[in-house]
Amino acid sequence: MIKFLDLQKVNAAHGEEIKSAVNRVVRSGWYLHGAENEGFEREYADYIGTSHTIGVASGLDALILILRGLIEIGRLQRGDEVLVPANTFFATVLAITENGLVPKLVEPDPSTLQIDGSRIEEQITPRTKALMIVHLYGRCAMTQEIERICREHDLLLIEDNAQAHGCLYGSRRTGSLGVAAAHSFYPGKNLGALGDAGAVTTDDAELAAAIRMLGDYGSSEKYVYKYTGRNSRLDELQAAVLRVKLRYLDADNDLRRRVARIYCNEISHPDITVPRTPDMRNNVYHLFPILTERRDELQQYLKENGVETLIHYPIPPHRQECYRDLATLPLPVTERLHARELSLPISPVMGEEEARRVVALINAF
Ligand SMILES: *Cc1c(COP(=O)(O)O)cnc(C)c1O
Repeated sequence: MIKFLDLQKVNAAHGEEIKSAVNRVVRSGWYLHGAENEGFEREYADYIGTSHTIGVASGLDALILILRGLIEIGRLQRGDEVLVPANTFFATVLAITENGLVPKLVEPDPSTLQIDGSRIEEQITPRTKALMIVHLYGRCAMTQEIERICREHDLLLIEDNAQAHGCLYGSRRTGSLGVAAAHSFYPGKNLGALGDAGAVTTDDAELAAAIRMLGDYGSSEKYVYKYTGRNSRLDELQAAVLRVKLRYLDADNDLRRRVARIYCNEISHPDITVPRTPDMRNNVYHLFPILTERRDELQQYLKENGVETLIHYPIPPHRQECYRDLATLPLPVTERLHARELSLPISPVMGEEEARRVVALINAF
């Protein structure tokens, strides 16, 4: 069987180094806010190209704390509107509503699957203060048009980089393009921990300090609270594991590109659209989506032939029960996308042979 993602194999590839990192932490007797966290924050900031990284407990927390930090330092107010792609993982929108901000959902471009730059401005009102882009599927969502829109409308640009560690926009890494970026190190992500973990990257020292406090109950001095914060820490074990895996991230992303290239070049079924990316070297292929009207039938066929696939995502945020008030928004592009999307297996431990087997099955469908 070809698994969607063989996490055991992914981590076994660096097994000895991970074991010695874990042992180092266990022996140290220090499990939170210590040398591993500091080391990872420095190394990840260097990698992304920002002056600050703040380790937090998850990608969702990173998103929530960025917006909360912007509120605390007076750059956003509750009730402000935040532009966000309508086709994203639930957490992106949740972080907005959790902060008492208002999500303004923008349709994706059906050819890139990223937020449609030509449809952003129609959603802007005097209350619109920020644009949250999502580098969905590990593909860069940033464009010159988005740069122009942020400049002309004075919008704060925030990145959800949960799926795009290592992705490039020109010569810069995603995660360094706006006021701040959220990163998830959920085990299945390109840079994955052995549990929950996340981080914020930013060049803004004031925002970094606020986020650091907010993740530590709102405190920078023990038992003194400036904000009503929360407990959101990147623990030492996860930080130590991430330091090992960060060293292999670029090589692992190259291995993902190898699979993506085979899918892009060799899938040739008339009923299947393969969303291609102009410059493959820039993208990190967290997921590999294809589109077809016969999605459920294709998924079943691949399953019967031993290939695991997933759907990202079966139900868009505005169709979720908890967002009933968004359900009536006209978002036909998003809905059509969610009805047709199927994610093929892709990972650094998937060989070319396996990729070609998937292609052969699809072309014979
Ligand atoms: C995974 C993910 C998140 C949330 O990260 P967690 O670490 O699971 O909280 C947020 N946004 C996107 C786009 C994601 O893929």
